[in-house]
Order: sequence, then C-alpha cells, then structure tokens
Amino acid sequence: MKRRVERISLKSPSPGTTRFLTVHRYGTPGDLPKVYMQAGIHADELPGVMAIHHLIPMLDEAAEAGRIRGEIVLVAYANPIGMGQRIWGTTLGRNAFSGSGNFNRDWPHLTEAVAANLSDGLDQNVERACAQVRVAMREAAAALPRSTADEELVAILLGLAIDADTVLDIHCDRWSTKHLFADDATEDLAIGLASDLAIPATLMSDVRDHSFEGAAGVVWRALRRVMEGADHIPSVCFSATVELRGRSDVSDVLGQEDAEGLMRFLIRRGHVTGEIEERPPQNAPFRLDQVEVIPSPAAGMLSYRVTPGDSIEKGQVIADLINPEAENPLEGRTEIRAGTSGFLIALADMPQIGPGERVCMIAGREPITNGNAGPLNE
Ligand SMILES: [Zn+2]
Repeated sequence: MKRRVERISLKSPSPGTTRFLTVHRYGTPGDLPKVYMQAGIHADELPGVMAIHHLIPMLDEAAEAGRIRGEIVLVAYANPIGMGQRIWGTTLGRNAFSGSGNFNRDWPHLTEAVAANLSDGLDQNVERACAQVRVAMREAAAALPRSTADEELVAILLGLAIDADTVLDIHCDRWSTKHLFADDATEDLAIGLASDLAIPATLMSDVRDHSFEGAAGVVWRALRRVMEGADHIPSVCFSATVELRGRSDVSDVLGQEDAEGLMRFLIRRGHVTGEIEERPPQNAPFRLDQVEVIPSPAAGMLSYRVTPGDSIEKGQVIADLINPEAENPLEGRTEIRAGTSGFLIALADMPQIGPGERVCMIAGREPITNGNAGPLNE
C-alpha cells in the first residue's frame, strides 16, 4: 500500500496567486479504522508540521511492510491562508486577517445536521448503524458553506476528519512544556497518548466543542442526546489537541522524537500493527477548570523566576512585571504570584506584555476561585 499525495485547490486570494492543501493518504477512503492528523491550523505553530514531516517516512516504511490498517490521512500544514499572513518576516497565523477570528475557534457542530440526515432511522445492528452515521457525517460536512476562503478551509478540513476514529490536531504554545486537551469521556486514551509522547500535562474537560478537535469528535458523543433511537451508537472517535512545546521548539531532533511518539500511539490505537513498549506514566490528568491562567495586571516587561515544567507553590512569585516608566526603577517592579499550586505548563515568549495578556498557565488540583480560570491558548 503506497502513500498517495492529493492537492486540494483552495480559493485564490487574489489574481495571479493560487493556494492548495497537500494531503497524504494511506489506504482507501472508507477503510476502517481511520485516523486523521493535522498540524498548523494556527499557522505560526510549526512543531507539529516538523513532526509530521518526520512521521511520513516512518509510515511509508510501515506501509511497505503491510503494517497499516484502514485509512490514514495527514495534512502536514493545515492553514495556507494563515501561513500567507506574513508581515516583515513574521507569520501572524493565529487569527484570520479576514476578520473571521481565531482559526481554532467556532468550528461548526454537525450533530444536528447528522441527525437530520438520518431521519429515516438507524439500523439496530451497531456496525451498520455506525456506517450510516459516517455517511451522514460526510454529507453534513459536504453541505457546509464555502463562499469565503475561510469557510472553504473549514469545510475541507472538517470533511477530511469528521468520520475518523482518531483525530489529532497538533499545535504548540508560546514557551511551554508539551500538553494535550481531550474530552473527559476519553481519559484512558488521553493517558495512553500522553505516555506515548511523554506529555506531562493532560488537560481533561467536557466542553471542548469550540475547537477543531471538539468539532471533529463531538458528533459521536452528542448524537444520542439529540436523536431518538441512537442509544446503541458508541462513542467511536478519540480526538485530542496536542501541544508540542513552544513556538520556537522546531528542530529535526524534536520532530523525530515527536514522530516516534505519534507512531507509538498509532500502534496503540490499532492504525498500525506492531508492538509498543509501555512508557513511564506521566502526571495524572488535570481538570481544565483547575488550570490557572494568570493575566498581567498592567503593561510592562516580564522577568520570569520560573521555567515551564516547574512545580509551583501557591503564592510563589512567577515573574516580576517591570514598569520602564518608573522614575525610580526600584519602585517599578510588581511581583506576580501563583494563585494555585501545581505544574507550570506555559509562559509568554516575548518580554513585553500588555494588560490582561497571559503571564503563565499552571495546572493545579483545586478549583480556581480567583477568576483566573482561562481563557486558554490552544
Ligand atoms: Zn494553536
């Protein structure tokens, strides 16, 4: 089974230019199990692009050896629109210049549309019913609006992912340890993924619906709630957002290491046959609503006293916020303290900060009661 490369044309942004997605495929569309993996929907986040760059030769070798089961779909750079948003050498790939917002927010939920497409009812046989659901999912994705370039990208990417059994959306943070986001219902698989990729912080919640990963996984979980006669439909899909460290953590060494971790997980999930050695367990999963995101109280310049991966005690000084306007420099410093004890996941990666911008993210074990529960950066 050889890899096939497909180029999917996107709307041209302006006369004389073209845009397209490059999709790497193993297996035949419709083969099960199916895995979908993408990187770079936030187009300035390249660690996942590097990981997939290294994963493809590994999968080619597995394909050559007949070890791939079902279908594998990889989109190594998911956002050519964002990648083109470059100003003076910097890619501003997180929010769309078109004004449509953050590229990883407000992804459409297809549960109602899928239920409507199944109005003739579901087969009582679970396998046949799941096949009906997958057809209805593909139809619902195909019916998404495509009038703007941003809408078209959403429709294509969700269409590629919606019927998959495993969806991994790879991102990174600013200055950060590896971490991942997944739905409560899939905690065991999230623990396995964390172990395979040596991810120290697994963040679980039951409200992940705004993101690509949430939109790709929600239908299997929600169909039972919105559709009569769907009680026998299992929650087939495991979807997760994987954050591979910080934005500048891009190298062949890290890419190779991450690709090996992804390969271990593909074997764990049965997408590739083979054996994996169990890796050391990581920290027990954290609850997303027990993650403290400390905002900066004012504009200024940060000097950190900690680094990602540190254990933090409540009340510990995380950073000094320096006010360069101060007439007396000794009076121009504000200590920023942790409101919870826990594991320090991420910091800002630029020293200049504005009021309300994120100073750090700490995963703790207690409810956050000081108002600093989010928003998150994924
Ligand atoms: Zn991201």
